[in-house]
Amino acid sequence: MSTAAQSVSATYDTVLRRNPGELEFHQAAKEVLDSLAPVVERHPEYLDAAILERICEPERQIIFRVPWVDDAGRVQLNRGFRVQYNSALGPYKGGLRFHPSVRLGTIKFLGFEQIFKNALTGLPIGGGKGGSDFDPKGKSDAEVMRFCQSFMTELHRHIGAETDVPAGDIGVGGREIGYLFGQYKRLGNRYESGVLTGKSPAWGGSLARTEATGYGTVIFAREMLATRNASFDGARVIVSGSGNVAIYAIEKVQQFGGTVVAVSDSSGYVYDPDGIDLDLLKQIKEIERGRIADYVVRRGGRAELRTTGKVWDVAREPGGVKVALPCATQNELDEADVRSLIAGGCLAVAEGANMPCTPAAVNLLHESDILFAPGKAANAGGVATSALEMQQNASRDTWTFEHTADRLEQIMINVHSQCKETAEEYGAPGNYVLGANIAGFVRVADAMLALGVI
Ligand code: NDP
Repeated sequence: MSTAAQSVSATYDTVLRRNPGELEFHQAAKEVLDSLAPVVERHPEYLDAAILERICEPERQIIFRVPWVDDAGRVQLNRGFRVQYNSALGPYKGGLRFHPSVRLGTIKFLGFEQIFKNALTGLPIGGGKGGSDFDPKGKSDAEVMRFCQSFMTELHRHIGAETDVPAGDIGVGGREIGYLFGQYKRLGNRYESGVLTGKSPAWGGSLARTEATGYGTVIFAREMLATRNASFDGARVIVSGSGNVAIYAIEKVQQFGGTVVAVSDSSGYVYDPDGIDLDLLKQIKEIERGRIADYVVRRGGRAELRTTGKVWDVAREPGGVKVALPCATQNELDEADVRSLIAGGCLAVAEGANMPCTPAAVNLLHESDILFAPGKAANAGGVATSALEMQQNASRDTWTFEHTADRLEQIMINVHSQCKETAEEYGAPGNYVLGANIAGFVRVADAMLALGVI
């Protein structure tokens, strides 16, 4: 084994030893480290400065108690997290996830991914992530507000426009960001709008931020398809999830002439062969906070709800599938699902969610002829537009939707070409995982070298 490969392997052993039981974090670290031996081979200075080991260790991890009172007057308790992972390129930046499955290891995996994703955008943002095991589902607005106020009462002392700028993620949308910002403003008696992104455009948010992650994922997929002279025009597409990322991925696919025939949530999936009625889905999910089961009822017999199997099984329906966009959660697409996609004639998979494909699924995608875009590249449009929101806040300006969406499109085209060209430079043309990991890593590693041992 070369010295470089030995260092990568030793770093992974250290990750396992220092972070026992954090399986999702181990998975994310392995995926990145597996790409890095050829880079440290070319750059021994990274090894001398222990960049590999330092990049895997968060700069700071904050865990706190979040007590709140429910509508029945009972005291409830949750746990809050903020992992401030790497600030070599700018203030920590990354969303907050509210979901009952959240543990420290979940936040670490997301924060680690965020370092490289943020670097790929080319914008001055470091990596971080936070959240809680709180479940907003089924809670009243008043309960969500009291929870957010308690969460921010602790978090506020650790964040700031120049320090750490949280945003949304699973379970955290415009409503939650509003309550969080309200409490932050109240505690500090200052209108520091740059402390959070994903705000409503009515009070400091950026136009096109809501759409950005889904739109960006589809723009990345379009660029990838173009390398094979293919496009979304007339394509059948499967999207998993039915939240923020999924909804705006569907919108962009439709704008590009494709038809999304399936969506899902944690209770099952919908097969709608004529194509998802997006206005109806938005009404149910964004306004009524309903479920996809409600969508099927209101679709008047044109769509079918399936509560067994997985959304990827739709690839085996007549007509197959051209593009698959996993936009729900981690490890939701496995090896068996890739076999369904292959059987359906799939040409490309782009991850709107973070790490939705299992390692075995990614291996099989690489062995097959399917183009594969990892989340840290394909879904970078969300955080990139958050950085554009920070720019608007800092300059006390507001941009038009068109201007912001154009910037997003340019950023996604650049992210795509960086990944593609880096993969070619390192002798692995078409391997977007390798390209994204190396291009993101080099930018952060060079900044860490310049800043010294800190
Ligand atoms: P939302 O909360 O808006 O939607 C999440 C969707 O995924 C829902 O349909 C939800 O179904 C489903 N889902 C969540 N957890 C599970 C689970 N354990 N099993 C099955 N389905 C599940 O979140 P977002 O759309 O914002 O985020 C989706 C993904 O995109 C996440 O991986 C997130 O990290 C990633 N991402 C989001 C960005 C953003 O800007 N929002 C930016 C970059 C990445 P149900 O309602 O039944 O729970």
